[in-house]
Amino acid sequence: MGHDSDAVAASRECLAMAQPMWRFPCRSTTVFALLAASLMAIAQDTEAQTEPAIKVTLLGTGTPAPNPRQFGPSVLVEAGDTKLLFDCGRGCGHRLWNLGPQYLRETSHLFLTHMHSDHTVGVADLYMNGWNQGRQENLRVYGPAAAEVFMRHLRLAYEEDVVFRADRQVHAVERETLDYVAIEVTDGEQHVIDDVTVTAIAVDHHVVEPAFGYRVDVGEFSVVISGDTAYSENLIRHSMDTDVLIHEVMSPALEHFVRTTFSPEVADDIVALHTLAPDVGRVFTQTRTRLGVLTHLDNDPARIPELAAQIESTWSGDFVVAEDLMAIEIGESVRVLEPGHKQ
Ligand SMILES: [Zn+2]
Repeated sequence: MGHDSDAVAASRECLAMAQPMWRFPCRSTTVFALLAASLMAIAQDTEAQTEPAIKVTLLGTGTPAPNPRQFGPSVLVEAGDTKLLFDCGRGCGHRLWNLGPQYLRETSHLFLTHMHSDHTVGVADLYMNGWNQGRQENLRVYGPAAAEVFMRHLRLAYEEDVVFRADRQVHAVERETLDYVAIEVTDGEQHVIDDVTVTAIAVDHHVVEPAFGYRVDVGEFSVVISGDTAYSENLIRHSMDTDVLIHEVMSPALEHFVRTTFSPEVADDIVALHTLAPDVGRVFTQTRTRLGVLTHLDNDPARIPELAAQIESTWSGDFVVAEDLMAIEIGESVRVLEPGHKQ
């Protein structure tokens, strides 16, 4: 299974899935192939049960349009006890709580890809509610320079709440722990947090500048999060041989929605902000990733076959369509765990 030529895939176990209960009734042949091979991998490979180097949880996989099944863009990356959050869209705090109450207070490293509201509206919940739930570390917010402005205004917006919680409540939380640290990132710059190295990658979000993707390396294993981007050579350059590449996609259904909702000029502009499915497949092929993940889309099962066919026109390896709370374990095996899997 998988792509045929690279040494990375050849030297490691193939992709496994712990609970093969896909929610979508109509799956691409790729996903079915993935399922069959996964069962084999589980049967033959006790190595797959060992602690993964990286666990990725797709907290939110949706678009700006509200959708009860899919909250806003947000990805949690865990390596041991280290928790790193990438974007914090609608419902981000809710999804962290889904993983366990401690996640809201123990997540203190947030990387923003860009400042669009669908990627940031959950920050208020993470910032204020995480503090109220007992976060001891200052929230560290990495991202474009505008992230500092965003946090400064957020802090001001909640001053009345801070006065209440820090000054007037009997068991008050401390004002100092609410202080944030904003860290501007630049292309290629690396940030080391415990055993994890995060590299910022300048991507091409059309007129939105700067916009970043991030590569996370833990030892020999890695995951890349594209953020919002059109086809980006720089993203490809930084994503070579990554184990898992989580890429946004302007799916055929989403493009249809945009083109039937907005004027031709506006629609062209919106589509240019993102990556069409055949181009996402090209990115997977060029980077030789072990697993491609499609996100920032409407994952209604009825909308998947056309998307899958377009991806398969340019990528012959494995991919999955993201769902909220789907998790991916990365180690010698790459394992996809369906939403609701046992932690
Ligand atoms: Zn955007």
